[in-house]
Amino acid sequence: MSEPIQLSDITWESFNAMDVGAKGRYLARNNREYHVLVAQQFTRNRLEELGALATAIRRISKQEEGMTFLRSLLANHRAMLYFSQPSSRTFLSFCAACEILGLNIGEVRDTSTSSEFKGETQEDSVRTFSSYFDLIIMRSQMGGLAERMAWLLSNTERPVPMINAGSGKDQHPTQALLDVYTLQRSFEKRGSIDGKTIVFVGDLARGRTVRSLAWLLTNYRDVKMIFVAPPELQIGDDILALLKGAGVSFELMSEFDRAIPLADAIYMTRIQDEWDAPGEKRKIDISRFCFTCDKLPMLKSDAVIMHPFPRRQEISVEVDADPRAVYWRQMRNGMWIRTALIAAIFGKEHQINDFFARQGG
Ligand code: ASP
Repeated sequence: MSEPIQLSDITWESFNAMDVGAKGRYLARNNREYHVLVAQQFTRNRLEELGALATAIRRISKQEEGMTFLRSLLANHRAMLYFSQPSSRTFLSFCAACEILGLNIGEVRDTSTSSEFKGETQEDSVRTFSSYFDLIIMRSQMGGLAERMAWLLSNTERPVPMINAGSGKDQHPTQALLDVYTLQRSFEKRGSIDGKTIVFVGDLARGRTVRSLAWLLTNYRDVKMIFVAPPELQIGDDILALLKGAGVSFELMSEFDRAIPLADAIYMTRIQDEWDAPGEKRKIDISRFCFTCDKLPMLKSDAVIMHPFPRRQEISVEVDADPRAVYWRQMRNGMWIRTALIAAIFGKEHQINDFFARQGG
């Protein structure tokens, strides 16, 4: 097997300047994921393999013997969760994923409790983590920081894999993986994601989950994307250019009710006002972009409603009882797909698939 190109083979300046679609080939080792930094590094085939691995893990873990097997896989490894931006779901689902595989975890969630408070650079902090841990899972409000740190680690004597758990407004690749896994499972009985219409609603300008998912969906045939938002929160031109380049059909709309009957999946998002400058919170009326019970009759009987969470008022709690509301399942899917991803990074995919096959699949 030929060794693919690695991050240590390129300067930071060249990697950083590269088209995001071309970055993936620098992120693998031994023909499997090593760093997970951008949604664009996953092909359709890989999305399907990871989805199948997540399902195998989900089923194996239903039995005590299976749980014991999974817990033994990475019991001699440690993972560091370095989350300098608020998080509950992503943080906890990564903790749970590590625990399922037996990894021990360490965490820094507040840089005021780390040496960064004493003036240490983030570079030195990350190198320190790599001295003690075998995997770094990193969330930061700075776009591109996980990429920079992964490059840095790849150029040290002790490189360890880095997973981007959300960076700035640009990328949230593992959220996109769990969103695709949720779509795969939701459309299982209706073919696949091919040919489906996905409606994105809310703050599409600053929602990194929308950006990463929109890209992953370009892997599927004849998908249509509809972006519904007030003009000031509409999806960025960079994503539209990527979609055009990939030959994907899309439409921008400002009237939510017109989009609802067309949807196979509705992906709701909250207003991301933490990105407003301090003291400049904009008053944007999003009441027309909320999913309330009166909209349920407009939705196809086999469509699904998703949300990366946390939610505010954009989906009323009463909608939760409708079987088409899959956002709680979507959240749990995050734990399974992150478990699958970590297992794949450490080369445990075959072992899990073999165990699953022996159990009768
Ligand atoms: N949890 C998601 C994120 O980290 C979505 C959100 O915060 O609105 O981007």
